[in-house]
Amino acid sequence: MLQLDHLTQRYGALTALNDVSLTIGRGEFFGLLGPNGAGKSTLMSLVAGLREPAAGTLRLDGVALAGRPAEVVRAIGFVPQSVALYEDLTADENLGLYGRLYGLAGRKLAARIDACLDAVQLTDRRRHAVKTYSGGMQRRLNLAASLLHEPKLLLCDEPTVGVDPQSRNAIFDLLERLNRDGLTVIYSTHYMEEATRLCSRIGIIDHGRILALGTLDELLAQLPAAEVVSFARNGAPAPALAALARFGTLRERDERCEVLLAPGVRLADFFAATQAAGWPDRAFTLKRPTLEDLFLHLTGKTLRE
Ligand code: ADP
Repeated sequence: MLQLDHLTQRYGALTALNDVSLTIGRGEFFGLLGPNGAGKSTLMSLVAGLREPAAGTLRLDGVALAGRPAEVVRAIGFVPQSVALYEDLTADENLGLYGRLYGLAGRKLAARIDACLDAVQLTDRRRHAVKTYSGGMQRRLNLAASLLHEPKLLLCDEPTVGVDPQSRNAIFDLLERLNRDGLTVIYSTHYMEEATRLCSRIGIIDHGRILALGTLDELLAQLPAAEVVSFARNGAPAPALAALARFGTLRERDERCEVLLAPGVRLADFFAATQAAGWPDRAFTLKRPTLEDLFLHLTGKTLRE
């Protein structure tokens, strides 16, 4: 559905997107996972048409996005990272305005406003000014505004930052339902839990480059670890730590240490060795590797750094 070829974007001397090529298929729930400053919003803004790329091309169903033909504008919905609503206006008035900007009017517009308010569970607040809404409610209305014209591609740029858990779950449920009904979604986030829960395919982005691309399972298979064992460092002597390194990659972070067990390493062998060295078994916590582990493996830093 969407094809990006060699996209590059610069702000002065800074290259915010660096030769990104990416194809997104119809019906995908595509996640763009990366830390602050990785280039996610820049990529979104190029697809949304807020700016033209310094180099490269974008195509939607084969139609070049340059020049923004009307069919492209109507096919895309954009949920910007910051809330884009008039806070002195009510939800009804905001949606009326956005709907008219997309060419909706009359009964069709009224029906779409009803449907979108219902979808984000704000019908009972529709006649209240947006400035009386919680942050989560404003985010939900922001999402409703992007859906009025029934786009086939929805861009969500970190739509849950600073949102309460209830609104976040409402946003997730709605996006999952819309995706099941055929909407293609591109969703940017720096929360690996969101990418893990929502996305059928994920691109990991840092410093304007896609570092890894695939389904969750494909991505985790790139890690040289089948399990991660973590434990409190608590002054463990250096030789004891070094002895664990033969089971995989040893990582020391703050007060915790982690061993990414290499594939094929048996947990029984690991625990036999730690017991022999005098560690109590209860010192260890076991977990499956996550996208955070993969990001750390690829970049040497965490998603929050
Ligand atoms: P993300 O959405 O992943 O946080 P952005 O796309 O917003 O990343 O930013 C990518 C890089 O470009 C960052 O280093 C950011 O500081 C820089 N940047 C973003 N927008 C601008 C701008 N309008 N002017 C100058 N630099 C910018």
